[in-house]
Amino acid sequence: MSPGGASAITVFTTGANIDDAAFRNIVDALPAAVYTTDAQGRLTYFNDAAVKLSGRVPELGTDHWCVTWKMFRPDGTPLPHEACPMAEALKGAEVSPGVECMAERPDGTRFWFTPYPAVVRDSEGRIVGGINLLVDITARKNAEIEASEQFRTIIDTTPECIKIVAPDGTLLFMNPPGLKLIEAAAGEVFGKSIYEVIAPQDRERFRELNERVCRGEKASMQFDIVGLKGTLRHMETHAAPLRHVDGTTVNLAITRDITVRKRAEQDALLLAAIVDSSDDAIISKNLNGVITSWNKSAERLFGYSAPEAVGKTVAELLIPDDRQDEEPNILARLRRGERVDHFETVRRRKDGSLLDISLTISPVKDSAGRVIGASKIARDITPRKRAEDALRDSEERLRLAQQAAKIGVFEWDIQSGQNTWTRELEELYGLLPGTFGKTQSAWEDLVHPADRADALARVEQAFQTGTPVEAEWRVIWPDGSVHWLAGRFQVYRDAAGQPLRLSGVNFEITERKSIEHELRRANTDLEQFAYSASHDLQEPLRTINIYSELISKRYADSLDDDAKKFIGYLRVAATRMEALVRDLLSYTLVTRMEKREDAADAQAALQVVLANLSGAIAEAGAKVTSGPLPAVAMHETHLQQLLQNLISNAIKYRSPDRPPVVHIQAERQNEYWTFAVTDNGIGVDKEYRETIFGLFKRLHTADEYSGTGIGLAICKRIVERYHGRIWVESEPGRGSTFRLALPA
Ligand code: ADP
Repeated sequence: MSPGGASAITVFTTGANIDDAAFRNIVDALPAAVYTTDAQGRLTYFNDAAVKLSGRVPELGTDHWCVTWKMFRPDGTPLPHEACPMAEALKGAEVSPGVECMAERPDGTRFWFTPYPAVVRDSEGRIVGGINLLVDITARKNAEIEASEQFRTIIDTTPECIKIVAPDGTLLFMNPPGLKLIEAAAGEVFGKSIYEVIAPQDRERFRELNERVCRGEKASMQFDIVGLKGTLRHMETHAAPLRHVDGTTVNLAITRDITVRKRAEQDALLLAAIVDSSDDAIISKNLNGVITSWNKSAERLFGYSAPEAVGKTVAELLIPDDRQDEEPNILARLRRGERVDHFETVRRRKDGSLLDISLTISPVKDSAGRVIGASKIARDITPRKRAEDALRDSEERLRLAQQAAKIGVFEWDIQSGQNTWTRELEELYGLLPGTFGKTQSAWEDLVHPADRADALARVEQAFQTGTPVEAEWRVIWPDGSVHWLAGRFQVYRDAAGQPLRLSGVNFEITERKSIEHELRRANTDLEQFAYSASHDLQEPLRTINIYSELISKRYADSLDDDAKKFIGYLRVAATRMEALVRDLLSYTLVTRMEKREDAADAQAALQVVLANLSGAIAEAGAKVTSGPLPAVAMHETHLQQLLQNLISNAIKYRSPDRPPVVHIQAERQNEYWTFAVTDNGIGVDKEYRETIFGLFKRLHTADEYSGTGIGLAICKRIVERYHGRIWVESEPGRGSTFRLALPA
């Protein structure tokens, strides 16, 4: 039976009799549903297969056009019986072969079939009836539907973007995951150019690829897209030509988002660069301890190249024999996912030498969280170790020195408020071991109440200045004895300048204090004695002088020559003694005279001195000149004494070969004025340049040069009283320069 023609069936020509029993038997036995109608479409016959297919027994003469109960078009809309293919054929219409229909049985089940309707005509060609053959295609149809649904599900659920693009770039289709990537709804982009979402720098390349694929080639590329909401993504596409229904070739592409992969690639590159440039040796190994990577610093540190090291175990390559048990422990910890932090140990170089290193080993996990190996960072701590050893040594030496010198050290941690101290410190405070007290006030309480305010002010000063501050204070020991301590406070700060700790270097100065005290008292006594002696001696000396002069004048005639000579000696001695007593008195007066520090004008002082010395100057034929002289902060009497002593010496110790030339000048140096008194006299030998400033120190007899040996001692005393300095520079035989540095 030909399924070809529908309306021009030739099998049953006019006159073919369906009632023919033999023929009917054949049709009844056919597996396909067959039925016939009259010209009006009323059912005239159906076979068993038709009952089976339609699920009902049609009523002959009543049922029209079809054996089925309800019919539908392929898109699911109901198809009225009068519009069914058999009805159409009976109306004389052309029924296209192979249409697919669906029908529902009374029990609700559905089936697919293809009808092959044909009309039966009489000899004049009039339609007298119809015959229809229904072929059950349910099984094929269901398979088709299932396949297309599977396909659709695959397209919709694949994480990749699947799209079809026309040669001109028009987007013909894109699956939902693809739409998500370009941040669009289907309606927004279908039928529009896909080029819009390609990043501008990649658009041209993408256009070329699309056109190439639409010419029949396969191609792949990476490019960036910018979604409709502005998100940038790296994509990788694999495209193939697809023959479209209309005969054109279009681009079917599967595109995946490789943003994360790209970033991971970049991260990996960055990490590799960091690992390579790191100063630390970075090594990775698997859980059997086999080295899997080895950076440049590892090469430098251990001496093995990467090819030499990779594939060997850490144990055979690096671990010294006496430390072999370390590796199993490390590996066991790594397997448990633990990290080994700053483990300080020793490793062996290629040349066999040993190396102090600090190891940090972290487990490396795969994406499922399983430990698959370890990365380890090894840092050479040999220099640090050496520095630590040296530090320990010097700390030990310092401690011994502190012990020997009985220096006690305490440290107050400002953040925590806690003290730490050495045993020596406790001894200085007369305390039993461990009883110093943990807080800062512990120290305050031990300081003598009379010295407490001052000592605290010094501590405060250490905080303010940041430099070490020295102090002296008394402490009262638990046994009631008083001890003098001296100490130095320093505040240490962090990088931000915040005080971290206060530390102090205390030692006992009780003995020094008492010696100082004794000395001061002896000095005062001595000075008092010198002052009263020189003061009180003046009067009897004057009496001796006056009366010896009276005797030599009034009794000149009655005295023999010897008596006159002896009285002469007496007068010289008395005069000299007078000078000595006078000079001694002015020496003691230096410290007795109140120390005035309002400025004294050196120019004016010099005029007074020159007037005082005019006789000596004229007698020696001396030339005295001066540069501009400043005012200095000292008592004017003291300034005059200084200048007078130095200028009179310059004239007195003149050379026998030339008249004296004296020059006085002053020069500012930082906080000091330096005065210089320069002469062209006999000069001072190098060995005496210190001693001449001592009391009664003279280099000459009274016969050679008159004098008491007190002048320069007075100068030194005055200068030191003002915290200045005096010294001499000289070329023996050519002259001297006496210099005074006085605070400005
Ligand atoms: P006096 O002049 O009374 O001996 P001084 O104390 O003034 O005592 O001087 C101490 C000594 O220093 C002097 O004896 C002298 O030898 C030496 N001396 C002082 N000034 C000068 C000088 N300008 N040139 C050389 N020697 C000097």
